[in-house]
Amino acid sequence: MFQEIHSTTNAVDAAAFVDTHCHLDDDSFASDLDAVMDRSRELGVSRWINVGFNPDRWQPSIDLADRFPGMSFMLGVHPGDARRWSDTVHADLKELMERVPPVAIGEIGLDFYRGETNVEQQVMAFQSQLDLALERGLPAAIHMRSAESLVLEVIKSRYKTPPLLFHSYDGSDELTGWILANDAYVGVGGLATRTKSHHIHKQLRRFPLDRLLLETDSPYLVPNGFKHRRNTPESIPRIAAFVATLLDTEAGLIASQTTRNAERFFERLPPP
Ligand SMILES: [Zn+2]
Repeated sequence: MFQEIHSTTNAVDAAAFVDTHCHLDDDSFASDLDAVMDRSRELGVSRWINVGFNPDRWQPSIDLADRFPGMSFMLGVHPGDARRWSDTVHADLKELMERVPPVAIGEIGLDFYRGETNVEQQVMAFQSQLDLALERGLPAAIHMRSAESLVLEVIKSRYKTPPLLFHSYDGSDELTGWILANDAYVGVGGLATRTKSHHIHKQLRRFPLDRLLLETDSPYLVPNGFKHRRNTPESIPRIAAFVATLLDTEAGLIASQTTRNAERFFERLPPP
């Protein structure tokens, strides 16, 4: 089954895949990243967006883009790191983005999954970074966990928001409605492939194909059907095949359409 998916995907695929969200500067890739990248390329994944999600991960993300053609990065402060947000961090991020432009600001948003109580801090970091994205003319990738109503409230209260991508989408009917009405995008990855993710499947069926982006969130969120514990960009064709089955269409169409979507959403995406 696994082999079949890969060969089918390679056969139809001229439009190489983009992994729009990964963490390849993670320690788990320290010893074999070159091999992971080679295998990923062989499977048709030829562009990657690494997420520099806190100040310690900004430079490693930029370094990866220097090291691998087809690699780009986004920069931001994750809601889980919102307690580090300060005027200094804000100024540093702004200066860095001017000097080394990312393809997006991210991942930013709100996360109360572990009972976090720093609501104001998270909202402030989120709002400031949405402003930064607007200032720089960049899209923003949203991380949202146990926080949908407040994310919606923040976004709706704003005079203007940058183009938005809801990474690893698992929103409700209401958020899906907002996304459809406001031309935002959703990231589809390992979470959606889980058999128990019925409500994600229901939402994904509501989106036209031109709203979907593929992502792995490597090394996290290993898709259903893989035995290994570390996710890698090699699982993108598997995710595409899953989406094709879910939406009753061809994997080749998912490949070409999601790549076009990535090029449209991330205007600064480098060539493969
Ligand atoms: Zn991530």
